[in-house]
Amino acid sequence: MEVFYKSTRSNCDPVTASQAILKGLSDDGGLFVPDHIPTLDKSLKELSVMNYREVAYEVMKLMLSDFTEEELKNCINSAYDDKFDTEEIAPLVETQGDYYLELFHGKTIAFKDMALSILPHLMITAAKKNHVENEIVILTATSGDTGKAALAGFADVKGTRIIVFYPKNGVSPIQEKQMLTQKGDNTFVVGIHGNFDDAQTGVKKIFSDKELAKEMEAKGFQFSSANSINIGRLVPQIVYYVYAYGKLLSEEQITEGEEINVVVPTGNFGNILAAFYAKQMGIPIHKLICASNDNKVLFDFLSTGTYDRNREFVLTTSPSMDILISSNLERLIYRIAGEDAAKNAACMQELSTDGKYTITDSMKAQLADFYGNYATEAETAERIHDLYMDCGYVLDTHTAVASAVARKYKKETGDTHKLLIASTASPFKFSRSVMDAIDPKYDALEDFALVDELSKVANVSIPNAIEEIRTAPIVHDHICDKTEMKDIVKKFLQL
Ligand SMILES: *Cc1c(COP(=O)(O)O)cnc(C)c1O
Repeated sequence: MEVFYKSTRSNCDPVTASQAILKGLSDDGGLFVPDHIPTLDKSLKELSVMNYREVAYEVMKLMLSDFTEEELKNCINSAYDDKFDTEEIAPLVETQGDYYLELFHGKTIAFKDMALSILPHLMITAAKKNHVENEIVILTATSGDTGKAALAGFADVKGTRIIVFYPKNGVSPIQEKQMLTQKGDNTFVVGIHGNFDDAQTGVKKIFSDKELAKEMEAKGFQFSSANSINIGRLVPQIVYYVYAYGKLLSEEQITEGEEINVVVPTGNFGNILAAFYAKQMGIPIHKLICASNDNKVLFDFLSTGTYDRNREFVLTTSPSMDILISSNLERLIYRIAGEDAAKNAACMQELSTDGKYTITDSMKAQLADFYGNYATEAETAERIHDLYMDCGYVLDTHTAVASAVARKYKKETGDTHKLLIASTASPFKFSRSVMDAIDPKYDALEDFALVDELSKVANVSIPNAIEEIRTAPIVHDHICDKTEMKDIVKKFLQL
């Protein structure tokens, strides 16, 4: 049965997967959600002997059902190739009895590569299928990792341009350098005076600017998104949970059908929502453990039923999770509201006017699959330090938040299900915070000296993504106020 996508905010006509990918966001400002979630039509055993590309096809053929087999396989083969530094694409590492799913072996060494390697191919294919002649302008807000991964994916892709907004003082030095050295005539990078939420809100505003859309259309442009509000991001993220379960099974770490817990370091709620979808598709997952840093708006929401962004925005050592408005939570709210667009839209309206909303008890009861907790800066650093001392495995700061929360969860509940921890970035991307956690003496070193030291300490060779930027020239230097985002977009597009 074909899957159509409908908006979380009104009962407008459903669209196909390829149309949803092209549009990014629904016209009413809502997010596209599947009208049903299909179950996998291969057994767990069958899936367990497949490679990453084969699993990707099994998931995507169901969720992106208007793409042909040939189209999907072409996209998958172009995405998951030797851009990844391991044939496995997403290797599993066991340490201290937990399983770390390393999602950082792509071009930009963060998990965003898992979806952004394929999104440009899906987008171009979708444009062809729908006879779109316009040039597609990808507008993206980033808390640090999406930006580079999207730039790398779309650079020099014909028929596209990409504009990335990032918080000028809210990303790691390596993250910033990765973006500012991006080549490609169709790429634009802008630092804004503001935080990630400002960038994301600004981008969403530009998306729903009808006036601008008209001007764009007249000049042969249309917008789409590379953020996880785009289902073309979300669907490829389901794949690695299915793949990981199969891996655990084929390596006899679990028995067929055995439930596992999944721990996800969370910001915009995209990655954990993908795990939730994997569960709906038939992967035996017991709890979805949502790990936050000091911006613990999701922990508070899961414990009280009130989502409240009225609080101080904290800059942490896990900047990709420094988010107070978790966009993808809207998809879950819509679902627990009984797929009632009006009910969801009312919550989102309250969020926008009062900065908060409260769900009903019956909605809250449907969140039983989720567990939330958070790790402070000290707990995060301690986790990096302790795991390294114990077994020499070096976590990045985001994964360390997840790992620290996993320990809290086990202690609090005594639950003994096996734990799969989404390892979302290479420690090299956050070498200063990571090395500081291992030993404060490293603080005196400059950024690339730290990288060299980290390589020695972790006994891991320096990823290409880092070597590449060591001497690369800075080619982007735009900075603007958060109120000037629309103007700068118009300037880039010469509107
Ligand atoms: C984006 C990101 C996250 C948060 O993922 P969401 O899907 O936004 O919840 C966590 N860790 C890293 C390293 C990231 O880049």
